[in-house]
Amino acid sequence: MKRLFVGSAESLLSLKDCFMNYPINWQLDELGPQPGEVAFEQWLQMIQANLEQFEKNITSRLNGVSSKLGSSIDPYELAKLIEQYGSVSGDWSQAVSLVGCYASDQSDNEQYRKAEGAVAAVYPMLTRADHALDRLLKGIEDQPWDAIKNSPELQNVFPFLERRRQEATLRLPDHLADFAGELNVDGLQGWSRLYDELSGSVRITVMERGELVEKSPGQIAFDSPDRTDRENKFFSSQRAWESISEPCAATLNHIVGSRLTLDRYANRESYLTIPHSQNRVTSRSIDAMWEAISGCKSELVKYLRAKQQLLNLDSISWYDLDAPLASHSPAVDYQTACETILDTFAAFHPPLKEFAEHALSSGWIEAEDRPGKRQGGFCTDFPPSKQTRIFMTHRGTEDGLSTLAHELGHAYHAWVLRNEPLVMQSYPMTLAETASTFAETVVAEERISKCADKQNRLAALDRQLQDSVSFLMNIHCRYIFDNQVHTRRAKGELSARELNEIMVDAQKQAYAGLLDDSGWNPTFWISKLHFYMSDEPFYNFPYTFGYLLSQRLYLEARNDPSGFPASYDQFLIATAGVSAISAAKESFGFDLESVSFWNEALQPIRERVESFVTISAEVNS
Ligand SMILES: [Zn+2]
Repeated sequence: MKRLFVGSAESLLSLKDCFMNYPINWQLDELGPQPGEVAFEQWLQMIQANLEQFEKNITSRLNGVSSKLGSSIDPYELAKLIEQYGSVSGDWSQAVSLVGCYASDQSDNEQYRKAEGAVAAVYPMLTRADHALDRLLKGIEDQPWDAIKNSPELQNVFPFLERRRQEATLRLPDHLADFAGELNVDGLQGWSRLYDELSGSVRITVMERGELVEKSPGQIAFDSPDRTDRENKFFSSQRAWESISEPCAATLNHIVGSRLTLDRYANRESYLTIPHSQNRVTSRSIDAMWEAISGCKSELVKYLRAKQQLLNLDSISWYDLDAPLASHSPAVDYQTACETILDTFAAFHPPLKEFAEHALSSGWIEAEDRPGKRQGGFCTDFPPSKQTRIFMTHRGTEDGLSTLAHELGHAYHAWVLRNEPLVMQSYPMTLAETASTFAETVVAEERISKCADKQNRLAALDRQLQDSVSFLMNIHCRYIFDNQVHTRRAKGELSARELNEIMVDAQKQAYAGLLDDSGWNPTFWISKLHFYMSDEPFYNFPYTFGYLLSQRLYLEARNDPSGFPASYDQFLIATAGVSAISAAKESFGFDLESVSFWNEALQPIRERVESFVTISAEVNS
């Protein structure tokens, strides 16, 4: 109900409020039937039937022409098959997204949880369809491939075909692929599930109000302003993780060992071949990135030393890295968060602002702080409907504002791609986090520039630099560890003690020897789920890659405000192409394989360190 007053300043404010209210709950009805309804089951059955039909079509195509396949492929027929593939895989991902939204909205709803299981059970069918498609593409010889490249029917999906054909060459030989796929359920994936069980059983004993209580690891953070509290929690966690170190060491040995065996049978060049291919990057680009980062470590050390002084600490330990600075940031209600984001986007990229306004006012966002919701935040796509949904909980803090900006960055990425063919709308993890972190950075920088109070400014810079430490030091240590483990595992199994040592060595290198002797985290390899993910090896460097690329984009937006929006949209479309390297080259002329590019990308971080050090010296004096 709108109440309109006229006359006083107060009434004008009420008038403004009436028009600027963005809904805090999302609308899901138009995206498909509700899980648990008969219509939902029928939808899922239809998806299964379509997947089966697709696989049959490809198989009969493969059997029908056998060895002559390559010379007889008709571009028109291939175009039809690709369209069918886009449609069935698009429907499946729409169902997955929808169930995920309902289940996150009401975490204790049993019907939604069951529906999640039912949708997941369709996944192996999609994998089989994928394999069949890859077999078809791999079988096409070079000459007809050139004809395909030039055929008008396939022009707009050719980058997808090219990428899939390249990836198909990295797969196991046909006679082993299905066998390995089934064996992986009890092997590689089984080890991964065992880790989930082991880590899920861990309880950390901490002191609360004079009593010892047991907490799950997710409830423990080292972000208390009280150092004793952080220290106690850290050492209790160490003890808890240590209690499962032997079975976790065995699990990690078997996961890495299985991967190395698969690499060998598929004739892959190295254990990095698959992670590089999944992320559409080259080893040169990743090596160049780490080289530039290593040269920037002294800057981060400067920041952490200044923070150490502000916190009045004699030395820094792992559990001090997330310690908050004394001041706390002012509250930000949801409407203010929305308006702040829109204002900032408008200055940097007007189409991004228009999109965000559309998403905010159309019920695409669930942000209410209420019980029964899942933790965390995400943005999920509904390509067939050309929509996205954002899930988060806004608790009236600056963090909520950042999360909203971040997720809107993701949503805009999908929005720009919405009119491309369905198979040309997927992009790798390296580039997924670029659009989101860019949006988040733009908003954070704007907030800092408007922050008059020194303490608040320092706290805001600290939040940004904590992220830099995570991406450039923490993720670096995971990358070094992963490399060491893959190299040494090839020669034999590693004990828990050896894994502890490898982890501490990796941390010393990644954190430039900054921490106190007793302040390293030897059991980090046990507590970090990412090392145990069966299908995504090296789930670390893509984060850093996306983050730094977004920092370089931020510089570009700052230096070339008029040219930026068009190049940015072109870049987002190019992210669905064959390689991340060429996407950046074609849109902005960036050379991601050169150390100098990554050095430029580090520039905003250097600037923040300088501001932080300067302000902290003023505050301290
Ligand atoms: Zn994200």
